[in-house]
Amino acid sequence: DPRLKAISEAIRVVPHFPKPGIMFQDITTLLLDHKAFKDTVDIFVDRYRDMGISVVAGVEARGFMFGPSIALAIGAKFVPLRKPKKLPEMHVGAVQRGERALVIDDLIATGGTLCAAIKLLERVGAEVVECACVIGLPEAKGQCRLNGKPLYILVEPR
Ligand code: 5GP
Repeated sequence: DPRLKAISEAIRVVPHFPKPGIMFQDITTLLLDHKAFKDTVDIFVDRYRDMGISVVAGVEARGFMFGPSIALAIGAKFVPLRKPKKLPEMHVGAVQRGERALVIDDLIATGGTLCAAIKLLERVGAEVVECACVIGLPEAKGQCRLNGKPLYILVEPR
């Protein structure tokens, strides 16, 4: 997809943040680039519009920046998954048994965050159709920690 190069280039890399050795992928610069931001949302919308998804669950905080636009465009509700003590939490009653869910976050590293999100949704009887991230570390391709759920990523870190 020719749009992916510009999406990747719109993500700012902040070296040694928040600790030495970490190359932090900052998606706030992607949000500043209207074309790249819209292309990002459009790619997800095109993929998920006909999958019968009724809930888009976005992981705090940067899943909140992509999830609502995708949810509106595919006719689904948006549910924020909060991370009060690092692991995601969901409001009681937000998702019903049998609902088909997409989980969205900006980046997957170890997969621990998405795995916790999947467990939350499955605990209330929802089916997680797929997890989607803008950025995936190369290690994430193994997706061994996602309980076998498919993972869709747009770009690798720069
Ligand atoms: P994981 O649980 O897969 O190890 O880490 C993913 C979580 O950490 C995501 O919620 C993501 O927002 C955050 N995260 C870790 N590293 C980065 C980074 O370099 N950039 C951004 N934007 N988020 C990160």
